Amino acid sequence: MTNAKIVVLGSINMDLIARCHALPLAGQTLTATGFQQIRGGKGANQAVAASLVGSSVRMLGRVGEDGLAASLIDELKQDGVHCSQVLPTPNVSSGLAMITVSDDAENQIVVIPGANAHVDAATVDQFADVISMGDVLLLQLEIPLPAVLRAKEIAQAAGVRVILDPAPIPATPLPADLFEVDLICPNETEALEIVGRHAKQNATAAQPQEITAWQNVAEQLHQQGSRNVIITLGKQGVLFFDGNQHQHLSAQPVDAIDTTCAGDAFAGALAAKWAATNDLIKAIEFGNQIAALSTTATGLTALRTE
Ligand code: ADP
Repeated sequence: MTNAKIVVLGSINMDLIARCHALPLAGQTLTATGFQQIRGGKGANQAVAASLVGSSVRMLGRVGEDGLAASLIDELKQDGVHCSQVLPTPNVSSGLAMITVSDDAENQIVVIPGANAHVDAATVDQFADVISMGDVLLLQLEIPLPAVLRAKEIAQAAGVRVILDPAPIPATPLPADLFEVDLICPNETEALEIVGRHAKQNATAAQPQEITAWQNVAEQLHQQGSRNVIITLGKQGVLFFDGNQHQHLSAQPVDAIDTTCAGDAFAGALAAKWAATNDLIKAIEFGNQIAALSTTATGLTALRTE
């Protein structure tokens, strides 16, 4: 996908994963049976996905000034992501997730935002030229909201398409103009939470099973200002609403073994194809394929072997 320029502003984390027979109780010390260190963060994952499917990708964000920063940047570069705008940040750690996984696949996660929490509007102003030169700006919500809003403003002033993956949904109120983007692509939980908060209802009340019920949720998201709405439905595939028509794409049949990065693979691949072809339907089909592929191995590994 030559010449498609994707700019991703977002989080960069190192996931430190301890495997234990059981999760530790309060005050308990356990000995792990295994350990893995894997680069994560929604921003970085989406940047890597877009790069692995052939786009030119620039990552914008921050790492700490610690031992993890160099590995985080090296690993992104190995996956082809341009990192000149990943800024070292004094006196903070890099973003970290400390994860414990038990034998019965329960987990416990502590996220330390570290440098990600220092990505503010002033940081984004330093990236204005890079944002303005992209074809597509890809945003998530794992960095402070003022940075996300500023990046969106810069992109829109320059006529750059904006995709928002509204994940994770922060506890703070969501400004109405956050959703005024070209495309929003929440998963089921996020879609319900956005719609529920807007309606001041209990968002977790109903998880619709029927596609038609999700169409209603998509319409409500569209009313909040997003030109195009996608709801990712896990193994039920993807629902798309462009303000006029609904389209449901079934998931590709695969033997899924790890769906952790499916949403990020979807967003990255979708952005890449949309930037390269300007054809949103083709981009959604491609995202759906690549997301399914990603579930056949851990993390984004399956995209590296294609
Ligand atoms: P998230 O990872 O953000 O929760 P989803 O679980 O909705 O997002 O997954 C994102 C996309 O990944 C889906 O829309 C679908 O395209 C693909 N996907 C997820 N799970 C499967 C699966 N079991 N089989 C095939 N595709 C899947």
